[in-house]
Amino acid sequence: MIDGKTKILGLIGSDIEHSLSYCMHNYAASKRSINAVYVPISTPKDNLSAAISILRSPSFLGANITQPHKKEILPFLDRIDPIAERIGAVNTVIKDENGMLIGKNSDVFGFLSALKESRFPYTDKDVLILGAGGAAYAVTDALSGMGTRSIYVYNRTTAKAIALIEHFQSYYPNQSYVLCTNPHELIIPLLIVNATPLGTPNTSLAQAFPPHPTLKPSDSLIDLVYHPTPLVQKASQKCLVSADGQSMLLHQAALSFSWWFQTSAPIREMRTALQTHLDFWNAS
Ligand code: NAP
Repeated sequence: MIDGKTKILGLIGSDIEHSLSYCMHNYAASKRSINAVYVPISTPKDNLSAAISILRSPSFLGANITQPHKKEILPFLDRIDPIAERIGAVNTVIKDENGMLIGKNSDVFGFLSALKESRFPYTDKDVLILGAGGAAYAVTDALSGMGTRSIYVYNRTTAKAIALIEHFQSYYPNQSYVLCTNPHELIIPLLIVNATPLGTPNTSLAQAFPPHPTLKPSDSLIDLVYHPTPLVQKASQKCLVSADGQSMLLHQAALSFSWWFQTSAPIREMRTALQTHLDFWNAS
């Protein structure tokens, strides 16, 4: 029941109609008997300041931020926490007791939780990250200084891969980063992370594979796309430890929920809501 005390959370982004966040957060709030609702705030590229004004209303507790605003939102906020600062991207805004808007990022935690949940080996492993966008920054931050060997970075636009490496080298001077210009040439055992949208169903990229090495049993693969991509399907046919981005999505959402409501998230219920929604989506 929505009433005069209902708190509002929103998703700020430009193409948010099919986001999976609504089902998880609304179900989680109801399970915790929290009087709150999570709604879309469709925000075209040049309209971010209007969305920020809405967020400043006392009815709003905060928001998730998605493309194309994850970077652009930084100057609009009152404070940025150190992880979001390091990644240069905000995916969650919370409000402090004075109504100040604080930018945070739960993708780093979400990614590490997904690795741990599926028992992905990452310590003493070489890693290949495909992509150099916002998600790749979160993945690189998560894996840096965690006992990984070298982190190889490949991106279609090489200059962005170089920029990512230079950025993190300054934060993690003891971590080895290697620019990869041709993933097909890598023959060492790898944890491969697809941080591009290649393979996203119902898009022009649905059948696309990112450039990748020949998959071997000693490799493992995690794809950040929420649905099984052709790359994940190929990895599972070859019996690699592999996963799509669902688990990361769940865990980053759970952390955002706990920041907004200062209570643990009902993760089992959120997982069920997510799975039900995806099953429905896949069947339709
Ligand atoms: P982004 O900042 O726009 O970066 C996109 C990256 O993909 C860039 O490196 C880009 O290369 C590359 N790319 C895009 N189209 C390509 C193409 N046709 N061929 C080759 N490379 C291409 O996006 P992002 O925020 O990093 O997100 C990347 C993916 O991760 C998305 O699918 C997103 O949904 C997913 N994601 C999942 C989670 C989760 O919780 N599971 C969280 C965050 C993101 P260029 O630099 O050359 O353009």
